[in-house]
Amino acid sequence: MPRPVSASVSLSALAHNLAEVRRRAPGSRIWAVVKAHAYGHGLPAAIRGFTGADGLALLEFDNARRLRALGWRGPILMLEGPFGPEDVAMAGELGLSLVVHDATQIEWLRGHEGKAIDVWLKLNTGMNRLGLDPDSAASTQRELSVLPAVGTVSLMTHFSDADRPGGAASQIERFDRATLDLPGSRSLANSAALCDLPQTHRHWVRPGIMLYGSSPFADRSAASLGLRAAMTLRAALIGTQTLKAGDTVGYGSSFTAPGPMRIGIVACGYADGYPRHAPTGTPVEVAGVRTRTVGRVSMDMMAVDLEPTPDAGVGSPVELWGERVSVDEVAASAGTIGYELLCAVAPRVPMHVVD
Ligand SMILES: *Cc1c(COP(=O)(O)O)cnc(C)c1O
Repeated sequence: MPRPVSASVSLSALAHNLAEVRRRAPGSRIWAVVKAHAYGHGLPAAIRGFTGADGLALLEFDNARRLRALGWRGPILMLEGPFGPEDVAMAGELGLSLVVHDATQIEWLRGHEGKAIDVWLKLNTGMNRLGLDPDSAASTQRELSVLPAVGTVSLMTHFSDADRPGGAASQIERFDRATLDLPGSRSLANSAALCDLPQTHRHWVRPGIMLYGSSPFADRSAASLGLRAAMTLRAALIGTQTLKAGDTVGYGSSFTAPGPMRIGIVACGYADGYPRHAPTGTPVEVAGVRTRTVGRVSMDMMAVDLEPTPDAGVGSPVELWGERVSVDEVAASAGTIGYELLCAVAPRVPMHVVD
């Protein structure tokens, strides 16, 4: 029997979340962001769940090739643009749209001789990660437009703080000031902006995390945003222990039983992608009952409190996160965000696509 740990990805949840994006931004086209193997959900599931998207956005060129091989014929946007001149050639060959965020990339485009490539000029409006000075938008757009290698030239930026009220205001203003009279489509909104800032929807929105049913906000649940968890990480109990008062659990003996209690040992650990930093008390569901983790997460196992579920024993099902225990709750408990946990599910965990 295979070790009892697996992840399932629900196509209906992916499609539901995409429909929720469509409902919130009815006038915009949707780049469904599928970088990092669709936030850990796998490209095959993403292609099937997001058939209704207008385009897919990612940044790994080998995965863009895979999307074409899997049958995606629509637009594909490379969010970090080419990493070298050979990527420009590949973009021409596969019909990929390229972000241009640096002058070096313009030089690579200048040398391109294949089919014209649509580009998205990325402006740095305050994130200070990737992007050109907004004041150069007009001249750079003109420079790109005359290159035979370039098709349309659209404009984009990315927000650093759209998850906090007023956090995107100065970036929106900077973008609009620099691009007021320029032609071309616009794209500004990530998930947080898509939910809270309709004025940023423009021609194309770029949701990622919300498509997978995790919240872009620290203080609002995915369920309250109308989203459904797409991934469920499951395991089973492979052992139980009965503790006396004073007994400890696991490496470092970080948990001490306050009195007699039963615990279960779950076949999932940090080598499966469960966060080692999740402390005692992190929510988990065992045999359909919500309980908590106890002690330190180890590489292949972790312990859970069986007091709320006295009938649980070896073979009882465990939900680490999913429809009932939100990945965002586990992430908050472990001092991180849902994004990181979803992306980090280990290759040794078999992933199944369902419904
Ligand atoms: C990852 C990414 C997104 C999606 O962000 P979410 O917060 O997951 O919605 C959008 N735009 C760019 C440029 C990105 O890199």
